[in-house]
Amino acid sequence: MDKDYLYNSINVNNDFVNNIDKVIIAGPCTFSSYEEVYLIAKELKELGIKYFRAGAYKGRTNPYSFQGLQDEGIEILLKIKEELGLCIVTELLTIDQVKRYGNLIDVIQIGSRNMFNYELLKEVGKTNSLVLLKRSFGATYKEWLLASEYILKEGNHNVILCERGIRSFNSEETRNVLDIQAVPYIKNNSKLPIIVDPSHASGEAYIVESMSKASLVAGSDGLIIEVHTDPKISKCDSRQTIDIDTLKRIIEFKDKLKELDIK
Ligand code: PEP
Ligand code: MN
Repeated sequence: MDKDYLYNSINVNNDFVNNIDKVIIAGPCTFSSYEEVYLIAKELKELGIKYFRAGAYKGRTNPYSFQGLQDEGIEILLKIKEELGLCIVTELLTIDQVKRYGNLIDVIQIGSRNMFNYELLKEVGKTNSLVLLKRSFGATYKEWLLASEYILKEGNHNVILCERGIRSFNSEETRNVLDIQAVPYIKNNSKLPIIVDPSHASGEAYIVESMSKASLVAGSDGLIIEVHTDPKISKCDSRQTIDIDTLKRIIEFKDKLKELDIK
């Protein structure tokens, strides 16, 4: 790997990234009302969660599936931010959305389907927000790191990489395959932090707890997990959405691991 890429050399100067110490980002895939999302956010806050994920713009595989509350959804999330003091992590799909909301939300999520959308990457590179760059389900490590370079090059060095599972041949049984090797690879070949999304990797709620633990043990800087107070009513990805009790166990494990101080 060439040595002069920014991902090898930058110093990320954001509190979140510098103090990223097994952070857990949690929340529903998406939501269909303020009441629904507020209840989840409040429960998560009580568990000590500081970064709340929830999708307002959903780039769904099927155009007839629920596409999120869109602009109204962002306004709801900004209200939750104000009311509960949570940092908002949400996906933006277009350059126009980045222009309008990029600096208002705390973490701009670039979805797996958009990792190769270089014009969008350049636009988030012009914001001051944190950027969570999900790996495309079909991208090599090099393609993923070069995508991060598009953001870094514009001056935004607050990039966090996210491994969220790659395509393989058993997609009938599990949605994707968690490439856990991505964690040590990125640690060894870039200065950027990396977190893992076990929800989209497996597509199955019962797999999420063990893969969360495995990712933390592998050295992941954190996790992004789909959680709902009532997973079965989740508007999207309910099958992979864990309940609050499961999240509690993951948090306990994370805290124990930090006590052990395993590097
Ligand atoms: C999501 O986090 O809800 C999502 C759509 O993720 P991905 O882009 O990894 O599929
Ligand atoms: Mn989802």
